[in-house]
Amino acid sequence: MNKTTIKRGAFALVFMAIGIVFLFYSNEDEQTYQTNQGNIFGTYYNIRYQSGKDLHEAIQTRLQQFDASLSMFNPNSILSRVNRNEQVTTDADFEAMFAVATKVNLLSNGAFDITVAPLVNAWGFGFANREQITPNKIDSLLQQVGFNRVYLTNHQVYKQHENIMLDAGAIAKGQACDVVADFLKEHGCTNFLVDIGGEVVAQGVNDKGETWRVGIVKPIDDPTGRSNQLQEVITASSICMATSGNYRQFYYENGMRRSHTIDPRTGFPVQHNLLSATIIAPTCMEADALATACMVLGAEKGYQMISELDSIECYLIVAADSAYQIVQTPAFADYLQ
Ligand code: AMP
Ligand code: MG
Repeated sequence: MNKTTIKRGAFALVFMAIGIVFLFYSNEDEQTYQTNQGNIFGTYYNIRYQSGKDLHEAIQTRLQQFDASLSMFNPNSILSRVNRNEQVTTDADFEAMFAVATKVNLLSNGAFDITVAPLVNAWGFGFANREQITPNKIDSLLQQVGFNRVYLTNHQVYKQHENIMLDAGAIAKGQACDVVADFLKEHGCTNFLVDIGGEVVAQGVNDKGETWRVGIVKPIDDPTGRSNQLQEVITASSICMATSGNYRQFYYENGMRRSHTIDPRTGFPVQHNLLSATIIAPTCMEADALATACMVLGAEKGYQMISELDSIECYLIVAADSAYQIVQTPAFADYLQ
């Protein structure tokens, strides 16, 4: 073997090695789907995305930042401090929540109202202990509820009464999905599915190259939240979807069913035949807030509100004699598998 042959051989080996590394690297970049799971503000998250890198640590940091803004269960969050009447500067997550809460409050004629917190607490669905409910109690609590009694300006929340408190529970899970989806997009991901407590943002395809499939569960009474019988399967290359229902968070008292959706106009948990509301919207926080708004309004008024909105669709499951009755906007059918 002369020197030139050795040199050529070495070159070939180096190129082969580079080729293998490149193949391996691009293979990892193109093929690998990451799964990140955990808990945030009393619920689970399940995030899947295509990326050469596991971004879980950075996602957790972003979710903790979000929790520090809007969690009712974190005593140091901006929302908790507002509720305790502390002087606190609001951040971008808080202000985005407040803007959509304002919009949905108007669209729903006050049915969606984040100042419902004192009522949610009194009925035993909030961050404080359940109270003895009397008509007088409801009347006095209603004096502390109303979106016209609170406003946000220059990064400060002003409340008309110190007992006014905010509850972002009907909007935060959806918003957290948007926050994680935005984070993934900023990190170059185009294929992902973000599920936080059942609210979903999905884009692109799964690890089999198929469009993501997301279920709408049957609204069967199940406080454990484990029954996941599917009513429908949704599929779309880009979707933000949220579902509200009263089949998981409820109790019976003196023969009356009490659920976690409270009508801020009467002070009582809602009582009607709408079992669940699924909304598809341009953002998951809008979908989340509108789904709760539908649960307060009931099927007829809820459908009316959604049908007047562009790019927003609903799928309402209504209790009927022997089966479910489905009330859906025409374009919702495009998403059904
Ligand atoms: P969701 O599961 O998104 O429908 O949210 C339900 C949660 O929203 C409840 O547990 C309460 O914390 C809160 N909530 C209840 N009633 C209302 C209402 N009328 N407007 C806004 N939030 C509400
Ligand atoms: Mg909601």
